[in-house]
Formats: sequence, structure tokens, C-alpha cells
Amino acid sequence: LPYYTLGDHEADDFTLGGLLSEESDRTQCYSRGLIHRLRVASPHVPSPYLVKALRDYEALHQRCGPGTEAFNKSALDLELALTGQGKQEIDGDCRYIVWTANSGLGNRIISIAASFVYALLTRRVLVLDGSSDMSQLLCEPFPGEISWILSPDFPPLSTLLLNQCSPHRFGLHLQQGTILSSRRDPPEIDQKTLFPSTLTSQPSSIFSYVYLLHDYDFFDKLFFCDEEQSSLQAIPWIILSTNMYFVPNLYLYLPQFREELNRLFPESDTIFHHISRYLFFPTNAVWSWMMRHYDAYLRKSSRILGVQIRSFEYPPVMHPELTDQILRCALENHLLPRISKVEGREHLSTGNSTAVLVTSLLPDYSEQIKEFYAEHSTETGEAVSVHQPSHEVHQNTKAHGHNVKAWGEMCLLSFSDNLVTSPMSTFGYVAQGLAGIRPWILVAQSSDTDSHFFQASSSESASPACSQVLSMDPCFHAPPYYNCAESRGDDTSTVLPCVRHCEDVSWGLKVF
Ligand code: GDP
Repeated sequence: LPYYTLGDHEADDFTLGGLLSEESDRTQCYSRGLIHRLRVASPHVPSPYLVKALRDYEALHQRCGPGTEAFNKSALDLELALTGQGKQEIDGDCRYIVWTANSGLGNRIISIAASFVYALLTRRVLVLDGSSDMSQLLCEPFPGEISWILSPDFPPLSTLLLNQCSPHRFGLHLQQGTILSSRRDPPEIDQKTLFPSTLTSQPSSIFSYVYLLHDYDFFDKLFFCDEEQSSLQAIPWIILSTNMYFVPNLYLYLPQFREELNRLFPESDTIFHHISRYLFFPTNAVWSWMMRHYDAYLRKSSRILGVQIRSFEYPPVMHPELTDQILRCALENHLLPRISKVEGREHLSTGNSTAVLVTSLLPDYSEQIKEFYAEHSTETGEAVSVHQPSHEVHQNTKAHGHNVKAWGEMCLLSFSDNLVTSPMSTFGYVAQGLAGIRPWILVAQSSDTDSHFFQASSSESASPACSQVLSMDPCFHAPPYYNCAESRGDDTSTVLPCVRHCEDVSWGLKVF
């Protein structure tokens, strides 16, 4: 089948083994019916338990989502509670988690996925803050008429302070003892991050504001402990600020969640893979941008190597040594053909070709790789083409055109047969999850291994250039180091065999 026409063909399963509902819309969202044809087929089959949970969720969303009677009533209760006019009683059986937009697009996507996993575990309805441009980037994920996006002026959100100073912060209530918790004394290491408790407010029974951004404090982190988590259970509205993939900590000290996660995802490192392929489809505008690049530069190649190089520095700095490291990584691991030591062997051409798809804020890396293959022939005669769709230089998450490119590139990278990525980048995590492959991550060659910034290799002999990760799930960059069972600070990477430190971020946690 041509990849660009919709069709119903037994061997052309857009539902991905039942992950997507047969009723999912493919006419308003072209990518949903087509994108699977361009990706390497996933060897990971969703569990029947996950498939059932997704169908149940979809029914719940249709019953409780934005615009339904249940929603309108509950939203009014929330608004009244926020303005201090409401009764503090709960009625209705629809409960919500409201995701609010923070940080770059990769952070947004992994944190929506984590919020959706939390929604599945707690039988809540996930809705997204409508003030960002996510609705122009992502198709509606659920079949039916009910959106997952809140209207941009959803009154309760426009009146709320969504930061650490919020008097409604769950962590603040725990700290002040207005929500029951036996834990009052943070371990010394967390003292410095505590936010001053100058504000006072009584917790509402209608909503709670949960703050899980990377700079959250000891009390915010108690969200991941069983006793404190259970105090959120009956609250209809959780308003969430997060930019992280917090799934690993849903396993550790929340036994009910752990059991359910094991049922949903018997192959534990496929959580983001399945959830991202279920939730995230580019809108027609993004799809059309992607297809122009795909048709012109990628379609005819026999294989695609995706290379994602994140430059964190501001102003951006090009590391000339990094191109050598990328090439060394790709050549040592047979991701790119070796160059010939003898000139003029083009007649050996196999007809095969590799397209290198480079994504980076800077143009230099792709130009240097292109030059390398332009100047040398390959041992097999295999052709290597190099393409970089954009080079935006600076991150600019507020500009929609910029986000179209960023999201389009993550999706194009997901067509790769192999990926080489840079450490600590959620941009790369999204690509690897959608692709369903374990990337080769460039090894940071810095003397300061805890540096937040990726440092290029400074010496040719440094080794290895990269290593392939064992799990394709994203890394949780700022997990709590707290043993909820024993109320003390601890290395939480040793609690369960399936939750360990990340390969690329030594202090992070990841599901294996
Ligand atoms: P992270 O900071 O690497 O974890 O990834 P995020 O996606 O959260 O934030 C980085 C943002 O910078 C992206 O969303 C883009 O806006 C921009 N950006 C970084 N690298 C690239 C790139 O290779 N291509 C494009 N188009 N944008 C990028």
C-alpha cells in the first residue's frame, strides 16, 4: 500500500495490535491511519489488560470529559471552590487530572504520558491546559466527540497561581500539617530545597494543586508515598504542574499502583513506547511538514540513522569534536558504512543507501557528516545522504512555527532504524519511545560527570563514544531520594529490580 492513502487492509493494522480503538478517527488526523507504515513495526505487543484499560478509559472520557454534563457541573464546583463561594461537598463520580504546560516540547510530551499513566491508575480523566499550542500539534487522541483540551480561558485555571507560591499546593498542606502526614522532618539533604511556608490556606475537598516540577521540595515529593497519595484519592480535581516522566516512582512505594502497572505493562520498559504510540499523533499541519521532508530526503533510502544532538548551552556553542564522536559511535557500531581506503570503488555499489537524519539546533554537525561522506567513498559503495530539516539555533517554545519543527522532527526521528542521541534530552526520549528502539547515547566525556550540560569529547582516544541503553523508557530526571516505608533519605535505585539509575543521568531513575 502506498503510505499516503488510507486503506483497510488486514496486514495494515493502524490499531497497532488493538492499542488504538478501531473507532479512532483517521480522516481528521491523517497521521493516525498512516504513520505506522513508515515506522519499523514494533515487536512489543500491548497486553490485553492494557487494551481493555484503554477502552475503559475512552468510555470514561466520553462520559466525563470537557463539555459533558458531568464536566460542566464539576467545573462549576471547582470555580466556586476557588472563589471561596462553593460548598465543600463532593458529588458526581468523575474525577480529573489537569496537566499544565511547562518547559520544552519533549518535557511536555513525556510529562503528558506520565500524567496519562497516573490517570489510568487512579481512574481519573486527563485534560490538558488549553493555553499552549498543544492542540495545534497533537491530534485528539480519544475516539468520540469529547476533547482532551480545556478551553483556553477555562475559568478555574486562569485564576490559579500555578507555581511554588500557590497557597493550594499539596506539599504546602503536608508541610503545614493541614493534610495528614506522619512525616514532618525532611532529611538534611532536602532542607535547602524547602520552600518557605509563609502562606496559609485550608486544603479544599474539591481540588489540590500538585507541584512536580524539577525544583519541587521535600513535601511535594511525598506525592510518591502511599499514605500521602491516598489523601488525594477522593479529591475531584488535581491540577498538576510537571515537566517530568515520573512513572518510575509510581512503582516504588505505591503498592497498588505497582501491581496495576505490572498488569498493564508486563514488559516494563515499554510503558512510554505504548502510551506515546497511543496518545501522540501529529496534526495534519505537522504531518504535511514532515512528509515534505520525508518524500524529498528519506523515502528512497534503504535505512535511516537518526542523530539527535541537543545543545544546552546558551548562547549555543558548536563542539567541533562532537562530529568525530558521532561518527566514531556510528562506525564502531555498524550504524553507518565504513569508508574505503582505496579510491574509486563506486562501481561496487550495492544499490543500498543510508539516510542520516540529523536534528539539532545547530547546522554544523550535519554539514560535517555530509562533508565526510562526500569526501570518501564507502567500502561497500553504499551511498550515504545527510539531511537536517531545521536549525533553529535557539529554543523558542512560545513560537508555534518552531514547535511544529521540533515535534515534526521527533516524529521523523521515529522512522529511524537506529538512533544516536545525546544524554539527558527529553527530545531524544520522545523519538526513541515512538520509534520503539534503544538508542545509542553519546557518552558525556566531561571530567565533571554530574554536569547538566553535554560536553563533547576532547580526546580522540576517549572511549567508548556511545553505548546502547538497556531500556527505551525515558529517565525521570529529578526523582525523590526518600524511602517512604522507613521515613528516611535513601538511594531509591535499589528498591526494585525494574527501577534503577538511568544510563545517561546518574542521579535519575528509569524503568527497566
Ligand atoms: P530537552 O530540553 O532536550 O529535554 O528537550 P525539550 O524538547 O523539552 O526542549 C528543547 C526544545 O528546544 C525543543 O522542544 C525545541 O523547541 C528546541 N530544540 C532542541 N533541539 C532541537 C532540535 O534538534 N530541533 C528542533 N527543531 N528544535 C530543537
